[in-house]
Formats: sequence, C-alpha cells, structure tokens
Amino acid sequence: MNVDPNRKAYVCIHVFDNTRPINLVSRPDGDWCFLCGEEHDDDASQYRVVGIGHLFDRDNSLLELKDLQPDWEAERAAPRGAWLRTRCEFDD
Ligand SMILES: [Zn+2]
Repeated sequence: MNVDPNRKAYVCIHVFDNTRPINLVSRPDGDWCFLCGEEHDDDASQYRVVGIGHLFDRDNSLLELKDLQPDWEAERAAPRGAWLRTRCEFDD
C-alpha cells in the first residue's frame, strides 16, 4: 500500500520541532497522527499539520506502518524499537 506523500498528518509540537522522537502513531477516524508519546494538553496549539512524506523521509522506520489501519495505533518504547500495534477506541 502506498501513502500519498502530500497527505496531511498531525504531529505534536515536539515532533514538529524535532525535540522528541516519534514513538506513537495513531489513526483516529483514519487520520494520521505522529506523536512523541508523552501527554499533551488537548489544545490545537500542541499540534501541527505536515505532509506525511516529510515524516517518512525523516525516519524510515515509520515506513513499516504504512499499512496501519484506521482506528489502530502503534507504539514503541525506543526510537528504533519494535512497533506494538493495538486496536483502539478513540473518543470523539
Ligand atoms: Zn509531543
């Protein structure tokens, strides 16, 4: 499966500023979110939108998750660790 590199993805400000690695990828409602895995305020100021291709270019270990299905998430304990996928219930 290919993901359009221009597709939008949500990132937290830590990922956006590259101050923390991407350790949590989730697909609420089919959107793509790439997060550091730490807690964030539920506030739009904590997130940015980027083209998903930039993220795959930056960290090619994310390519393993190209087939992540909507309403699933994948987490890892370390930047090069194995992804652990779980199906989730996202709150609306
Ligand atoms: Zn973050």
